[in-house]
Amino acid sequence: MRYEDAYRRSIDEPEAFWADEARAIHWHRPPRKILEYTNPPFRRWFAGGETNLCHNAVDRHLDARGDQLALAAISTETGVRAHYTYRELHREVNAFAAALVSLGVDRGDRVVVYMPNIAEAVFAMLACARIGAVHSVVFGGFAAHNLALRIDDAKPKLLIAADAGMRAGKVIAYKPLVDEALALAASPPPHVLIVDRGLDPSMTRVAGRDLDYAALKKRHANADVPVVWLESNEPSYLLYTSGTTGKPKGVQRDVGGHAVALATSMRTVFDVGPGQVMFSTSDVGWAVGHSYNVYGPLIVGATSLLYEGLPIQPDPGIWWQLCAEYGVRTMFSSPTAIRVLKKQDPAWLARHALPEFRWLFLAGEPLDEPTARWISEGLGKPVIDNYWQTETGWPVLCLQPGLDLKPVKFGSPGLPNFGYDLRVIDEVSGEEAAPGEKGVLVARPPLPPGCLTTVWGDDARFLQSYFSHFKELWYSSLDWAVSDADGYYFILGRTDDVINVAGHRLGTREIEEAVATHPSVAEAAVIGVHDEIKGQVPVVFATLKAGTPEGAARADAANALRERVAERLGAVAKPARVYVVNALPKTRSGKLLRRSIQALAEARDPGDLSTLDDPNALAEIRAALDRGS
Ligand code: ATP
Ligand code: MG
Repeated sequence: MRYEDAYRRSIDEPEAFWADEARAIHWHRPPRKILEYTNPPFRRWFAGGETNLCHNAVDRHLDARGDQLALAAISTETGVRAHYTYRELHREVNAFAAALVSLGVDRGDRVVVYMPNIAEAVFAMLACARIGAVHSVVFGGFAAHNLALRIDDAKPKLLIAADAGMRAGKVIAYKPLVDEALALAASPPPHVLIVDRGLDPSMTRVAGRDLDYAALKKRHANADVPVVWLESNEPSYLLYTSGTTGKPKGVQRDVGGHAVALATSMRTVFDVGPGQVMFSTSDVGWAVGHSYNVYGPLIVGATSLLYEGLPIQPDPGIWWQLCAEYGVRTMFSSPTAIRVLKKQDPAWLARHALPEFRWLFLAGEPLDEPTARWISEGLGKPVIDNYWQTETGWPVLCLQPGLDLKPVKFGSPGLPNFGYDLRVIDEVSGEEAAPGEKGVLVARPPLPPGCLTTVWGDDARFLQSYFSHFKELWYSSLDWAVSDADGYYFILGRTDDVINVAGHRLGTREIEEAVATHPSVAEAAVIGVHDEIKGQVPVVFATLKAGTPEGAARADAANALRERVAERLGAVAKPARVYVVNALPKTRSGKLLRRSIQALAEARDPGDLSTLDDPNALAEIRAALDRGS
């Protein structure tokens, strides 16, 4: 089928389109109405339908593929590789679900999961789904304060945590963070269920509160816990956004719409079906992890790889080695991760023959053309950008190799996905911008299945955050974009980050892309800094590739970068200053924290740093600003 026809139908006849797509999952009771839209922008997909995510991800496959590998959890930190067939996964999930039930966890109760990328995190999520509990996975290793905030927002009945995670060979003890978070929280849950990996021998337990999963599991090893059938619009999980622009928002997802959107996108976008292998390098704590490490691959009966470790250890070829060993067909990673590899010798990309490997998908941050070319040429495989948000849960802009692959245009995540009625709106006039004109990317509601249903416990924040920016009731992506004559979209940066130089509006992404074309540059962040005359001027922070000489060569690089931007984008975009640093501040999910750099450059408070990954990177920015180079 042609992409254009399928897409048109998804917009013109959404109920017919999604009724067809809904056949891909199991319904205990079929939907009464495909779309109920009486209270815009709130909408109810598959109203009255009853289904269950765990049943669709696990039980449904037992007959046809019980002995097929469902989940491989690989840790290059501990050296453990854990493999589970669908039948074994079913056992593990039932035991976990029985443990939850024994602790009084019920339908609709929230359960906070604070674990690293290990199989037990997946069991915990599926066990919650099985009994209708609402999981809220908090990225393992987030500080106690972050965890406490999320506990207070979700008010969980239970917290499930691991003793520790590992990163770069170092044990990161989680339990002390849990203890601290529970002391900070206003409404701590009565119990903590600990999955003890044996990594932290000094771990202490609070009698009566802290329980050991292994002991509980022994008691429930052969349990059969019936699936709880949920109405399609009941909450399945909560997940907080990355907090790049401020306080994270608690995205609430439904059940049926989520399952259907994932089934569709696994087939059309990611081109993975039953028995095939998908490797997403995400952490389960992010939206990609939820959708494409856990639910998506399992719902379609594929094999999912979960990875704990760095992309460059034990060596920079580890990911491709795993792709060869497991016969990976589709891989999903982030531009940030590829830029880490890009600092290494490209010979690592060509060490393994990858006959089964079809596609590398990248998402989460703008994919600059030099990085896309470097990885695509090094691997000899197509690289496909895709754009989405924690809120949407699945790609908004993408190409669909599983259906009808349109040409890749470097720098663009592609075309609208099914059900996304997208427009670019001029912020000032509120009118639709013509192709080639920049503006805010919006979607006309109803949003398709799979997207957030609300902000947890806060409908007002849902409306205010996303639907209050224009006179029409449009969903604002809060991203800046431009479309071209072929209907492709290009993301230019976040609306908060737009730089206004003497009345010219520039997306951070345009300038970063120009900087990245310099052969010595590994990564760049561009911010707008207040200027008396021009309003704002662009300022660049760049990291250089390993092997770039120190000293004078760096100063030369800084000058070359200013000239290069002027050459490519015109004198108006010429950076006022260029700073060469060793690291850029990012969120734990790998996104550049431009707002914090900007605040430092304007001598303001850097704001909410709760999701900052490496405080040293920000300290280095501060030092570079003080030094003036
Ligand atoms: P918060 O909403 O709390 O500020 P966040 O927006 O960083 O955090 P996520 O939902 O993890 O949280 O990230 C989604 C954002 O990431 C998008 O809105 C966009 O700015 C950026 N993004 C994702 N994919 C792409 C892509 N392919 N190209 C360009 N930008 C992308
Ligand atoms: Mg966001």
